Amino acid sequence: MKGFIDISYVAVAVVFILGLKAMSSPATARKGIVWAGWAMIAATLVTLFWPGMQNFALMIVAMVIGGSLAWWSGKNVAMTDMPQMVAIYNGMGGGAAAAIAAVEFARGEMHGGMVAFLAVLGALIGSVAFSGSCVAYAKLQGIMKKAYRFPAQNQLNVGLAAVVAILGLAIATAEHPGGWAIVLFFVLSLALGVIVTSPIGGADMPVVISLLNAFTGLAVGFEGYVLGNPALVVAGIVVGASGTLLTQLMAKAMNRPITNVLFTPITGEAQGGEAIEGSMREMGALDAAATMRYANKVIIVPGYGMAVAGAQHKVWEMSQLLEEAGVEVVFAIHPVAGRMPGHMNVLLAEAGVPYDKIFDLEEINADFALSDVALVIGANDVVNPTARTDKSSPIYGMPILNADQAQNVIVIKRGKGAGYSGIENALFYKDNCRMLYGSAQEAVGEIIGHVKSMDA
Ligand code: NAP
Repeated sequence: MKGFIDISYVAVAVVFILGLKAMSSPATARKGIVWAGWAMIAATLVTLFWPGMQNFALMIVAMVIGGSLAWWSGKNVAMTDMPQMVAIYNGMGGGAAAAIAAVEFARGEMHGGMVAFLAVLGALIGSVAFSGSCVAYAKLQGIMKKAYRFPAQNQLNVGLAAVVAILGLAIATAEHPGGWAIVLFFVLSLALGVIVTSPIGGADMPVVISLLNAFTGLAVGFEGYVLGNPALVVAGIVVGASGTLLTQLMAKAMNRPITNVLFTPITGEAQGGEAIEGSMREMGALDAAATMRYANKVIIVPGYGMAVAGAQHKVWEMSQLLEEAGVEVVFAIHPVAGRMPGHMNVLLAEAGVPYDKIFDLEEINADFALSDVALVIGANDVVNPTARTDKSSPIYGMPILNADQAQNVIVIKRGKGAGYSGIENALFYKDNCRMLYGSAQEAVGEIIGHVKSMDA
C-alpha cells in the first residue's frame, strides 16, 4: 500500500506542476486550475489509505464541512471580492500548517533535532501567514478601515520577531518542550503576523498577499517534511516558489522593494505629492463616441472601477462596434491594475476579449504616443504621471501606462474620487484629457448608443 501511495504522490506532484504551468497563460489557466484541483482531491483520497490512519469519521466530517464552505463561497464570491477570498484561503493554508505543528507538539513526540526544528519553523511562518492574511482580508473587505501604526513600529517588529525566534529555538532544541512555552510561542507568532501587517495598506496590499502566500507554501512544505508526506512537501515548495516569484514581480511592478513594503508602508491615505495646477474638463458621451468612432487607434486602459461596475461586457461590445467602423482597438493592462494580480486579464477574458488584443505594460507603452485616443475606464493610480516625476509622491517610481502621451485621453469615472493610493492624478488636469463622469457600465452604454446612431 505504501508503494501505491508514494507513486500516487509523485503523479499528483507532476499534475500540480503541469497545472501551474497551464496557469501561466490566460488561454489555459482555467484548465490548469481544474487539473490542480483534481490532483488535490486525489492526494487527499490517497492519504486516507496511509498505514495506521484512524479517525475516519472526524476527517470526513471536516472535509464535508470545509469542502461545502469552499464550494459555496467559490460559487458566490463577486469578482471584485476575489482578492479578499484569495487572502483568506491562503491564510487557511498557513493556519493548517501551524495546526499540524501544534498537534505534533501536543502529542509530545518532538524531542529536538531536525524534525522539531522544521516543525517550529513551519509553525512560526504558518502562524504569521494565517494572522497576517486575516488582517489583509479585514482590510480588503473594508472591516478594518485604517492602517494602524504602533509606536516604534519597526523596532517592535524586529524585537517581537527576535523573541519568537529565540523561543522557537528553545522549543526546537528541548528534549521535552514545556506546554506554556509552546502556547506562548504560538500566541506571539500570531501577534507578529498582525503587528507586521496592520500598518501596511493602500497600494502595497498585492505584494503583501503574495508574500504571505509564499510563507504559506514554505510552512506547508516544512510540515510535509515533519509528517513525512511528499505530496505536502512538493505542494508547499511549488506554492512557496511561485509566491516568491509573484512577490518579486509585484514589487517590481510597483517599484517598491519588499523592505519598503514592510518597513515604510504607504498607508492608503493621501500623503505627500506636489500640488497640481489647472482644472479637470468634462466631456459628454456623444463627444467621446465621436472622438473614438473617427479615430484610427484607441487604447483602452481598464482599472478597478471597471471591475466594480462590472462593465467588461459593455466595454467589449463597444470595442467591437468601433472595430466594425474600422478603428483599431487594443487593451493595455498594468500589472497591478485592479485589486489582484491578473484582475483585468480575468475580467476581459470572461467578457470574450481575444488574448491577442490584450497587451502588458512593456509591450504597449510605446504605442500610446502613436494612438489617437487612450480611453481610461475606472483606472487611476496606474496612469498617474506624477509617479514618473514627483519624488514626494507615494507612488513615485511605479512604472505607469503612458496614457498621457496619447493625442486624446478620455477618462471614465464617477467623480473626483482618488485611486487606491489616495493621491490626486495629474493626468486628469492635462490639456489633452477630458473627463466623462458616470459609472463605467452606464457611461460605456451611452457611448455604445451614440456610436450605433452614427453608423445607422
Ligand atoms: P485605482 O487607482 O484604485 O482607481 C480606481 C478608480 O476607479 C477610482 O479613482 C474611482 O474614481 C473609479 N471608480 C470606482 N468605481 C467606479 C465605477 N463604478 N465606474 C467608474 N469608475 C469607478 O485603480 P487602478 O488604476 O486599477 O489601480 C490599482 C491600484 O490598486 C494601485 O494603486 C495598486 O497598487 C492597488 N492594488 C492593486 C492590487 C493588485 O494586485 N492589482 C491589489 C491591491 C491594491 P471615482 O470614485 O471618482 O469613480
